[in-house]
Amino acid sequence: MGQAQSTVVPEWLSLPSDPAELDRHIWTPSYGRDGSGELTIDGQTASSLVEQFGTPQYVYSEDTFRSRAREYRIAFEKAFGEYGAEVSVYYAGKAFLCSAIVRWAREEGLNLDTASGGELALGLAAGMPGERIALHGNNKSENEIRRALENGLGRIVADSVPELFMIDRIARNMGVTAPVMIRITPGVHAETHDFIATAHEDQKFGLSLAEGTAALAESDVEASLWSETAVASSDSVAMLAALTADALDGTDLRGFHCHIGSQIFEAHGFGLAAERLLTFISDVSNRIDTNIPELDLGGGYGIGYIEGDTPRSADVIARELARSVADTCSSLGLDIPHISIEPGRALTGPAGTTLYTVGTIKDVAIDSGSGRTQVRRYVSVDGGMSDNARPVLYDADYSVVVANRAPSGEQVLSRVVGKHCESGDVVVRYCYLPADLTSGDVLAVAATGAYCWALSSNYNYLPRPGVVATSSARPPRVIVRGETEEDLFARDAGL
Ligand code: PLP
Repeated sequence: MGQAQSTVVPEWLSLPSDPAELDRHIWTPSYGRDGSGELTIDGQTASSLVEQFGTPQYVYSEDTFRSRAREYRIAFEKAFGEYGAEVSVYYAGKAFLCSAIVRWAREEGLNLDTASGGELALGLAAGMPGERIALHGNNKSENEIRRALENGLGRIVADSVPELFMIDRIARNMGVTAPVMIRITPGVHAETHDFIATAHEDQKFGLSLAEGTAALAESDVEASLWSETAVASSDSVAMLAALTADALDGTDLRGFHCHIGSQIFEAHGFGLAAERLLTFISDVSNRIDTNIPELDLGGGYGIGYIEGDTPRSADVIARELARSVADTCSSLGLDIPHISIEPGRALTGPAGTTLYTVGTIKDVAIDSGSGRTQVRRYVSVDGGMSDNARPVLYDADYSVVVANRAPSGEQVLSRVVGKHCESGDVVVRYCYLPADLTSGDVLAVAATGAYCWALSSNYNYLPRPGVVATSSARPPRVIVRGETEEDLFARDAGL
């Protein structure tokens, strides 16, 4: 395929030989087609879901979420168990959070990773015990830290040295000790499928292993620290933070944390980050008396969005990571710490699908290179960038199928677009859809369970769609109701 052609049809997209077939790297076993060819989710036909709950509609398969949560927990427990180590799985709630999913995660033996006071409050309200919740964030407020301590959170992941001082002060005022982990930037940066090892991470999260503290010594905060800890000017800021957390009375240094990125398929980056963090733990252990019991390796495991995506199974990921951690610990003479992981997308992404109703359809002639023209069919649906911002934010690609009937016959090059006043409002950039697609047909966009509802907005005053849960064990039900026009106007002081 030539260079010019690739902007029209990307190399990964092929004309489907059987349009009814569901790519199993994208669609989990919860999705199928019934005798008439209609899409089913946990046994519910798409048209029955649309009839009951309308469109746009986020559908979450409880069966898929639960089985993936269980699969990750068991795979990691087994893989690390072979080396005598223990593992905790924290569901990263930022991917999609509501009370039902917190309950499912808790019942499947998972903990909860939160990134704000709001996520923390939701987790607690939904019944996740405080000691099974972690609080992240690079700019936590005093209220968020106080709330974490009042509710006995299992860990607060500190993101800067000033924050350690703030946590210490609040904890001492409350007469408690704060369990803290420190977020480290290991110099492994994952850019989708590519790893670039860098000495210094130019980003807001975490404390670098590479950066020297010499430049920081001038600041008031650091100067006051210098005398309390044995920090040397050649130490990294990560070491400065570790020695600080150890020296402060109000903080209990539980361990270190890193998160190298998202939608990662290769194992190499996770192994490299673990190696650097374990080496750091060994260095810290040589400087302080305290045992460092935990290492959190974050989330980031990739899922199938489009043809050609080949996500690895939880088993394979867990075995590779366990081997890499065990080898590094053995060469450092270190006991394997308690390991945590924080998958978000890998658990909830494939559990979610968005159903849309097709509206207008328009054929647009495009230059496919060498003076040839080709037609791309623009299919407008009743949602768009307000319910899925990822294509606009991250250039993310998705897959789509006809859901209310068999998608048979000729397939034509198409683009699914939203109804927003924005030319970038694309839902599925590249796809083939049946030539006889018509207004009123229902489309299902796959793997929208992560970072779609969570990033949704009211752009153009569109109400956010509701969330429906399906399960093979019970009838479908609303777990988050859709917004109404009254909701949209409720905060307008002039109405
Ligand atoms: N942990 C942390 C600290 C994160 O920032 C994120 C995502 O941004 C995650 C876990 C979850 O990542 P993913 O959904 O890719 O697994």
